[in-house]
Amino acid sequence: MKELLRIAIQKSGRLSEKSLQIIKSCGIRFGSDARLLKEEAENFPIEFLYLRDDDIPRYVYDQVADVGIVGRNEHDEQNLPLEILRDLGFAKCRLSIAVPSGTFYDGLPSLDGKRIATSYPNILSTILKKAAVTAKVLELSGSVEIAPSIGVADAICDLVSTGATLASNGLKEVEEIYNSSAVMVGRKNLEGAKRAILDRLLLRIDAVMKADDYKYVMFNLPKEHVGEIANIVGGMKSPTVTPLLDEQWCAVQTVVHEQQFWDVLEQLKALGAQGILVTAIEKMAD
Ligand code: ATP
Ligand code: ZN
Repeated sequence: MKELLRIAIQKSGRLSEKSLQIIKSCGIRFGSDARLLKEEAENFPIEFLYLRDDDIPRYVYDQVADVGIVGRNEHDEQNLPLEILRDLGFAKCRLSIAVPSGTFYDGLPSLDGKRIATSYPNILSTILKKAAVTAKVLELSGSVEIAPSIGVADAICDLVSTGATLASNGLKEVEEIYNSSAVMVGRKNLEGAKRAILDRLLLRIDAVMKADDYKYVMFNLPKEHVGEIANIVGGMKSPTVTPLLDEQWCAVQTVVHEQQFWDVLEQLKALGAQGILVTAIEKMAD
């Protein structure tokens, strides 16, 4: 029987679309928009299992799936011995402490002896313990933000992206205690054919993610400055320099990290670069 790598993806929610998008960018084709429970890719030996995100770490651990894409928060909360294979960088959110707007707060020690409602009791308890704070952690599976107004908690610890939900419940965010993004997790002892498929998949994912981080930059430069550009733009090995018909000038092509891009642009302008073109890179491998 053909070996398949089974990959668990959230069926419907904040992680679903981006998870599938990353796999698609890897050149892997699959059919359904209807999201069956499971489906096989057309041109790569993987099978998708569409599940609730909370179930993903457990299913990977129990060998129902081999790898999965899940929020780091969910992985850390469940604390099963899985391997974090890649941080995929999307679905960024934070776990924050929030208290009723009028409440005084001056750091975690303010929570000593208080009741804190959360869906993430393990992550919260670990952080409180590190800060030597003793509080009563009350686990709620949803609607955590209403706990203070109905009198069951003094504070909450919940996932926040904009803070609008907090404000509408009369709460203010006072401390960010944990950051999360989507991660690909796998079983620790994955080997043989499945491991080989996983390595092929990771090679592609790395190429897609790396390409996202870089821009392809082309520009014309007075030839007299060509010696100086290697210090500004490294390229993958070194920049490509081609002559122009006008012998005073040359054309340069290179890649630049997104985070350095504006700095690099200023330095290139200072050297007299002209006609600077910047394009996205679709895939990139060393
Ligand atoms: P399911 O039905 O699969 O159990 P869910 O409602 O538990 O879905 P979602 O709300 O889709 O889960 O969130 C999934 C993950 O997305 C979270 O665990 C978290 O990692 C991430 N996330 C990103 N932004 C936010 C946010 N603003 N609020 C909550 N989670 C967020
Ligand atoms: Zn869930």
